[in-house]
Amino acid sequence: MTFEPLSADFFGYSELLSSEEKERLAALREYLEAEVKPIVNDLWERAEFPHQIIKRLAELGLYEFAWKETSTFENSAVFRGFVALELARIDASVATHVGVHNGLAMGSISVAGSAEQRAEWLPKMATGEVTGAFGLTEPDSGSDSAQGLRTVATRDGDDWILNGSKRWIGNATFSDITIIWAKSAEDGQVKGFIVKTDTPGYTATKIEGKQALRIVQNADITLENVRVPEAMRLQNGNSFRDTAAVLRLTRAEVAWAAVGNSIGAYDAAVRYTKQRVQFGKPIASHQLIQDLLVKSLGNITASLGMVVQVSKMLDEGTQRDEHSALAKAYATARMRETVAWCREALGGNGIVLEYDVARHFADAEALYSYEGTREMNTLIVGRKITGFAAFV
Ligand SMILES: Cc1cc2nc3c(=O)[nH]c(=O)nc-3n(C[C@H](O)[C@H](O)[C@H](O)COP(=O)(O)OP(=O)(O)OC[C@H]3O[C@@H](n4cnc5c(N)ncnc54)[C@H](O)[C@@H]3O)c2cc1C
Repeated sequence: MTFEPLSADFFGYSELLSSEEKERLAALREYLEAEVKPIVNDLWERAEFPHQIIKRLAELGLYEFAWKETSTFENSAVFRGFVALELARIDASVATHVGVHNGLAMGSISVAGSAEQRAEWLPKMATGEVTGAFGLTEPDSGSDSAQGLRTVATRDGDDWILNGSKRWIGNATFSDITIIWAKSAEDGQVKGFIVKTDTPGYTATKIEGKQALRIVQNADITLENVRVPEAMRLQNGNSFRDTAAVLRLTRAEVAWAAVGNSIGAYDAAVRYTKQRVQFGKPIASHQLIQDLLVKSLGNITASLGMVVQVSKMLDEGTQRDEHSALAKAYATARMRETVAWCREALGGNGIVLEYDVARHFADAEALYSYEGTREMNTLIVGRKITGFAAFV
């Protein structure tokens, strides 16, 4: 299988990949183009998740990435970034599904679980036999989850009793396990629990009416006296610092997905404007349309350079919170401009699903806000450069 660099990779960043990584990306791209792209607009309209893709994504190795807070990775962060880009270029919801299962859920077990917990859960999750979700956000605690969680874990002998609610939890209408982050009634610290979703007292209800990432199955979760054995508490998750360690590893991936989502819109806009004829010639031959396309490519190229470097820093063990925060804030802000310019280039058809740009345009709004809004990521960087924490 031959790997062709994307035309939107204008400065040729994919040349950083090894030939084996390029082959894996080519196989992923072939599958996504053949099996996923043809169905996503319809699924988006119906707000349904294509469960059949789980088996194939597992076979392609997408759930196998190891998440560790060390500089040694089984796959380079740059390669993982390109995977997120390829997924989001076709569909940002599919990229989000992988980011939640492999990045956030498996990442929590990798980073905060014991060796026994990793051995028990990660192999089953890598094959797709077990699907995971990540429950941090609550109805009354989003940006302030470091301090504002209301879900409480109370120790009861060898068990913990969980009470509270979660909101926005991706994959959670069908996940087999959900990582629930809750405040301990004993020491007030945030702890993580691997909760089997068939545990009595656990209920997940799909959030209806979303106008972005409609294929992602987000749920409201209620926890009423949910009993979880101490053995299912993430043994190395002792405070919110450990939750933040998971987010630190996954945040840059969202920046990569933002670049992929932008490229999906850009590719569709280039294609369309070369075919659409007005005033007797293709609209792509008008200077003002070329301006929209070139500004979009500039945003994509600048963001791609930033995410490549931030992933190289992760591989080298030098990436800090403020680096991934800047990449996420910057790439998602540029994405928002880019998808709007691409939508504009299609005129009325820019708001019709069939022409692809509309989906990328709408999905951009969710990528912009999840895993830390632009404001929260700005405050993380602002704290670093000024020395003042301006969160409250
Ligand atoms: C599609 C989607 C999928 C998601 N998936 C998951 C998931 O799988 N698991 C999970 O746990 N969560 C998930 N989330 C939740 C997501 O992480 C939160 O939506 C996000 O952290 C923002 O929280 P909030 O929506 O409660 O907004 P709020 O925190 O209420 O913020 C609203 C606005 O106020 C701003 N704001 C808040 N505080 C400040 C401040 N101090 N200074 C300046 N501005 C401020 C914010 O930046 C934002 O613009 C998902 C969200 C979406 C939309």
